[in-house]
Amino acid sequence: MSSIFDKSKIIISTNDILSSPIEYLKGVGPQRADLLKKELNIFTFNDLLHHFPFRHIDRTIVNSISEINNTTDEIQVKGTLLQVEIIGERRAKRLVAQLKDDTGFLELTWFQGLNWVQKSLQVGKQYFVYGKVSFFQSRPQIVHPEMELVAADKKSENAFLEPIYATTEKLRSRTLNGRQIGKLTLELLKLMNEKIIPENLPDDLLHQLGLINRYNAISQIHFPGNKEQFDQAVNRLKFEELFFAQLNMQLLKSERHHFSKGVSFEKVGDLFNEFYKNHLPFTLTEAQKRVIKEIRLDTATGKQMNRLLQGDVGSGKTIVALLTMLIAADNGFQSCLMAPTEVLAQQHFRNISKLLNGLKVEVEILTGSSKTKARKEIQEKLNNGTLHILIGTHAIIEKEVQFANLGLAIVDEQHKFGVAQRARLWEKNIIPPHILVMTATPIPRTLAMTVYGDLDYSVIDQLPPGRQSITTVHRHESSRNKVINFLRSEIEKGRQVYIIFPLIEESEKLDYENLMQGYENMKAWFPEPKFLISVVHGQQKSIDKLTNMERFVNGITQIMVSTTVIEVGVDVPNASVMVIESAEKFGLSQLHQLRGRVGRGSEQSYCILLTGTKVSNDARERMGIMVSTNDGFLIAEKDLELRGPGDIEGTRQSGILNFKLASIVQDKSLLDVARNFASNIVEKDSELSDVRHLPIKRFLQQQQRKKIWSKIS
Ligand code: ADP
Ligand code: MG
Repeated sequence: MSSIFDKSKIIISTNDILSSPIEYLKGVGPQRADLLKKELNIFTFNDLLHHFPFRHIDRTIVNSISEINNTTDEIQVKGTLLQVEIIGERRAKRLVAQLKDDTGFLELTWFQGLNWVQKSLQVGKQYFVYGKVSFFQSRPQIVHPEMELVAADKKSENAFLEPIYATTEKLRSRTLNGRQIGKLTLELLKLMNEKIIPENLPDDLLHQLGLINRYNAISQIHFPGNKEQFDQAVNRLKFEELFFAQLNMQLLKSERHHFSKGVSFEKVGDLFNEFYKNHLPFTLTEAQKRVIKEIRLDTATGKQMNRLLQGDVGSGKTIVALLTMLIAADNGFQSCLMAPTEVLAQQHFRNISKLLNGLKVEVEILTGSSKTKARKEIQEKLNNGTLHILIGTHAIIEKEVQFANLGLAIVDEQHKFGVAQRARLWEKNIIPPHILVMTATPIPRTLAMTVYGDLDYSVIDQLPPGRQSITTVHRHESSRNKVINFLRSEIEKGRQVYIIFPLIEESEKLDYENLMQGYENMKAWFPEPKFLISVVHGQQKSIDKLTNMERFVNGITQIMVSTTVIEVGVDVPNASVMVIESAEKFGLSQLHQLRGRVGRGSEQSYCILLTGTKVSNDARERMGIMVSTNDGFLIAEKDLELRGPGDIEGTRQSGILNFKLASIVQDKSLLDVARNFASNIVEKDSELSDVRHLPIKRFLQQQQRKKIWSKIS
């Protein structure tokens, strides 16, 4: 089988008009071409075609100046230009013009390019003026408006929706403003036809979805006859973007499924069965069972597994990890489980050792603070194959650590690990081990499928039975006394309490002082010896961190004062109250992560979000969402809506979200449709050899060719 990305199949055609350098377009020439390249990254005809307008002017909508009031945003007016003069000194120097229509006067102001703007404006002539209204000394004005002469011939005025393009001051000074770029595009479109801009989607797909063809879409997004045509064009082009992004990912995944070799876990053996029958402390949820089945099937195929496991905090991912490691051991393979912090690695080690008590499974822990002697012993046991499971921090992936036959690598709380670190796991065995990435930062499904579309995906969408939902409240600083009294009464009932302080990287020192101040305050409110307090933060030695942590885990201390190091994975079922200080400084996902530390036992749990009295609307909205729901996936969706995908951890660099037109938030349903079509096609015809899929194949090859070209030139 050969891949469609096979380079030998790519024919480099030389008479491709779309690749023509932009200077060959009528009206461009070498000087303007240079600017287009430098300022807008437009090198070829194709680039200009894909420089879409950011809006259109509808000539039929003209406001009158008297309509302007303090709620007016952007307007288009038509009026006579009365006078144009440069006023003010030095930095206050500006160009001011007066526009008059039948209803009043409007001031127009420029702060840049004064001289050439002044030269280009014609006093006494009629202009269309467009821009954002602002108020200066309570008079309305438009700063840097878009201006165009009202043409003498009335016809062109309402001929079509006129496109306006993003441009720069430099280009404007070379008479390439937002409208003139449109004129170039119009020239270019005259050279185009359906052969030059061929369809890249299958016919039946176009029919089913009622999409217009590609050539029409590109023409109409620039020059639509009406609003409806514009919408059709945008819809078609958005679909195309989403579809090809999904298709590329699915093709990659399918290629990997076909070609990548993996170790095969052929059977479920004695260790798994013995544990399942006699050591499992609870009944698995249906969701846990389903996920284990998915993993079981995936690890038996002889191909490498690359799976993302999502499950809300407390959904029970650890036991799934353990059962998977037992399957590996049953098949004679070693496993490792990697956690992002030492605290968490220790906790996994403790829990897993306890669960495996009485079974013939060797478990060890390796972290940055492991002593040389311990390291040596571990390495020996790794070499001779007597060690089945190694738990640890990123110390595990250091070069010196060698496995005899690593068959499975599990990464917990995936977002704390870089992609590069994960890749190093692959090199730990001749045949790459199966990879299971577990994350408790719920990524909305849409986003997960878009960003991690090349991974297989499992989700534990169910919490273990008997969990009480956490009561969350938002309190202002002024109620602190009441909050303290509440904490006292809970502690007297035998509960334990977390107090969390924010950690902002830029001001580590300040955070530390904040935390220590908070710790001192707590000590005053909760004096020894009746109350004991643990404190954990990033600048502590690991041994102190562990001791403090252990004292809290074992119920010796009732209060844990900490920064967000506690955020990931820590499991203390008796801790039932969490106070989050300066809660407005946290994002939604992080608040949810933190809150997940409580509500792990059978007691009613509480999360108290403390903020100052004055908080921004944004922060208030976040608090409101936290108070109203415990559903991690819902919160993740909200987070995506509020912050946009660019801020979701791990997605920023992925590039996959940089669509020109589509937005995975606003165009979610279109994304779903695109994904379904893409996976259907890849499922049935991963070679794209079906004649109906020819347009897709040609387009992908052309894209590939462009990539190669851009590397050459
Ligand atoms: P997370 O998915 O956040 O890593 P954990 O694996 O730490 O969750 O599990 C949270 C708690 O729930 C642990 O105390 C664990 O023992 C318990 N747990 C997990 N699965 C079940 C289950 N099916 N029934 C009851 N308790 C469970
Ligand atoms: Mg966990």
